[in-house]
Amino acid sequence: MKKLLLLIVVLLAAAFAAFQVPAVQDRLVGAVMKRNMDNRDRQALFADDALRLLVCGSSSPFPSEDRARPCLAVIAGGKYYVVDTGPGSWNRMALLRMPGERIGAVLLTHFHSDHIGDLGEFDMQTWVAGRPGPLPVYGPQGVEKVVAGFNQAYGLDHGYRVAHHGAEMLKPESGVMKPITAGIGEGLQPLFTDGDLRVSIFAVSHAPIHPAVGYRFDYKGRSIVISGDTVKDARVIAASRGVDLLAHEAQNQDMVARLAATAGSLDRPRLRKIFHDIPDYHTSPVEAAEVANEAGVKLLLMYHLTPPPPKALERRFLAGVSDIRPRGVALARDGMLVELPLAGGEPVVSRLR
Ligand SMILES: [Zn+2]
Ligand SMILES: [Zn+2]
Repeated sequence: MKKLLLLIVVLLAAAFAAFQVPAVQDRLVGAVMKRNMDNRDRQALFADDALRLLVCGSSSPFPSEDRARPCLAVIAGGKYYVVDTGPGSWNRMALLRMPGERIGAVLLTHFHSDHIGDLGEFDMQTWVAGRPGPLPVYGPQGVEKVVAGFNQAYGLDHGYRVAHHGAEMLKPESGVMKPITAGIGEGLQPLFTDGDLRVSIFAVSHAPIHPAVGYRFDYKGRSIVISGDTVKDARVIAASRGVDLLAHEAQNQDMVARLAATAGSLDRPRLRKIFHDIPDYHTSPVEAAEVANEAGVKLLLMYHLTPPPPKALERRFLAGVSDIRPRGVALARDGMLVELPLAGGEPVVSRLR
C-alpha cells in the first residue's frame, strides 16, 4: 500500500515537472488549438440520413454554469435552423464547433429577453464564418422591430469588420438580418419550405405575452415540434399529433414555490414576486408528459428548464412524470443531440463533445 502511494506521488511529481518543460507545453497548446478549431467531424451532422435536433441552450432565464438560455437547432437538408437565441447560446454553438456558415434561418418563438439575447451574435458570427447571404429571421408580429434593433446595435461593428478584413471576405450586403413576419391563424400554418423541409407555425398560450408561437418541422417523413413558452395548450397537442419528437418547455412548480419562499425568507421581495408570478404561464413536467401522451409523440424532450436542475436533481425535477409516461422522456442538456433516422426507427439520443 505504501509502495503504491509512493509510486503515485512520484508519477504526479514527474507529470508536474513535465508540464514545466516548454516543449511539452508547446505540444499541449498545439493539441488544444487543433481540438478547438477542427470542426471537420461536425460535417457528419449534415449527412442526409436523419432529421436532427441539437440543444444549444436548455435553461430558462435562470443563470446556470453549464446551460445556456433557450436555443434548439434543427438540422436538415445540409443546414441548421435555430429556434430562439437565448443569452449564451452562440457560445454553446461555438464550443460545440458548429459550422456557422451552414445556418439556414433563425426562428423566434416570442421576444422575452431569454429567447433573443444572442440574436446579434448569431448574425455576426455566422456572417464571419461565411454565411452567403442575409440571415432570415422568422417570427410573429414584432420580429421586424427586434431585428431592426439588433441590426442597428451591431451596425458599427459590421463596419469595423469590413474595414479590417475587407469587403471581399465579408460582403457587407450579407452581414445583416432580414425579418420575416409570420401571420398566425387557427392551427398549423405553413411558414416556409426549403427543399424537402417544411416548416409550420402555430400559436401557443403565454399570456400576457402576445403573440407567442411554436414551430413544427417535417422532413422526409420525420417530424419535430418545438413548443416555445406556453402553458399546457390543446394547440400544441394538435400540432404534435404523432410526431417523432416534441421539445416542450418545463417548469417544476414545487421548486418554484420553494424558491419564492426562500426569497421571502432572505428579504428579497422582488425575487419573491417574480417566483410567485411565473407559474401561471409555463407548463409543469407532468403537464408536458400529458401533452406528449395525448399527442402520441415518440419522444418528449423537456427544455427551457425552470429552474435548471443540477445533474443530481434531474430525477427530482421529473417527479411524477414516470407515473404517467414511463418511457419516451428525456431532459435536455446543452450539447444533447436527437437523431431521427430517415430509414425509420426510434429516436437516438447522444451528446456532442
Ligand atoms: Zn422563456
Ligand atoms: Zn417567455
